[in-house]
Amino acid sequence: MKKYSILFFFLIFNSFVFAQNHKTQNIIVVTLDGFRWQEMYRGADSTLINSKYTDTKADVRKKFWAETPTERRKLLMPFIWSTVAANGQLYGDRDNGNCDEVANVYHFSYPGYNEIFTGFPDTRVNSNNPVANPNTSVFEFLNKQKGFENKVAVFASWEAFPAIFNVGRSGLNVNAGYTDFAENHIDDRLKFLNELQHKAPHYLGDTRIDFMTFEFGKEYLKEYKPRVLYLAFDETDDMAHAGNYKMYLNQAHQEDAYLQELWQYIQTDPAYKNKTTLIITCDHGRGDLSPDAWRSHGSIIKNSEQTWLAVIGPDTPADGIIQTQTTTYHKQLAQTIAMLLGFDFKKNANHEVADAIESTMIKELVSLGK
Ligand SMILES: [Zn+2]
Repeated sequence: MKKYSILFFFLIFNSFVFAQNHKTQNIIVVTLDGFRWQEMYRGADSTLINSKYTDTKADVRKKFWAETPTERRKLLMPFIWSTVAANGQLYGDRDNGNCDEVANVYHFSYPGYNEIFTGFPDTRVNSNNPVANPNTSVFEFLNKQKGFENKVAVFASWEAFPAIFNVGRSGLNVNAGYTDFAENHIDDRLKFLNELQHKAPHYLGDTRIDFMTFEFGKEYLKEYKPRVLYLAFDETDDMAHAGNYKMYLNQAHQEDAYLQELWQYIQTDPAYKNKTTLIITCDHGRGDLSPDAWRSHGSIIKNSEQTWLAVIGPDTPADGIIQTQTTTYHKQLAQTIAMLLGFDFKKNANHEVADAIESTMIKELVSLGK
């Protein structure tokens, strides 16, 4: 009997203390599909600039080339290398011995996103076909928590996301591909974006251009004030498959600017300021042994499991580049998202979930939470 009452006390104490101390009330996740850690940490790659995959080489050099990797990465991702490097954390700089990777063996998108959001690399999720995900995501879990009901939203370029989040079961608000944003009372700007997206260039087939995805997400953030927002960009991967290094770099640079705009907004809106954590990552890496290997990824492409991860928020230590000789896995992100918001997804999921990356949270908060 005693054993149970101690356990009971522990559980009550546990959630009480945790909820009192952490500052994160909202989470924003942004993914850059198939964007490599190599460009994140080293900037533009001379081998690729000098290859057949870069036309107008002079333009690319002018915009993104500098002598050192430190200078080059600042040219490519100025927001990451000013704001996040100074006030947040950057994982996966293999040149410093820190590794970040996907735990799934497939190294392509659906298995990658399943791993991030459900917390485990399920071997049943082994194709990019838009089949309804059998697993529960941390978003589905959060959407059922008090104060989070209908406050979780996803805006995605890739049209497979409604299946990845199993909207039929989860009821999550997922706007993906060129689907109109449908709510009863939508403002004029969202109405305009609905019209605009059908007139915008559809050069990626059913996959929406990231510019539209960003504009929808930004407007939704302002109007609906979600507690959890996920923006899933796609064009870095599309441009790499197309063998267009210039556009791959341009898109990464553009998405860094979107991140800057988001972060600026977060810091000016009282609903978000100093209580929002931003997590930025990708679904898989790409090859790096030759220019041809860069175009692709997958189980047969060496090193395409290698990824990166960035975190910035009020509960995250400002460590900059993580220098520890450790490996973080994307399967840890679901529980990391839950932990930052004061929840335990692992305990409540109906499948295995990897442990959180505890170093994303100030030590005292993590130990109080246990
Ligand atoms: Zn791809």
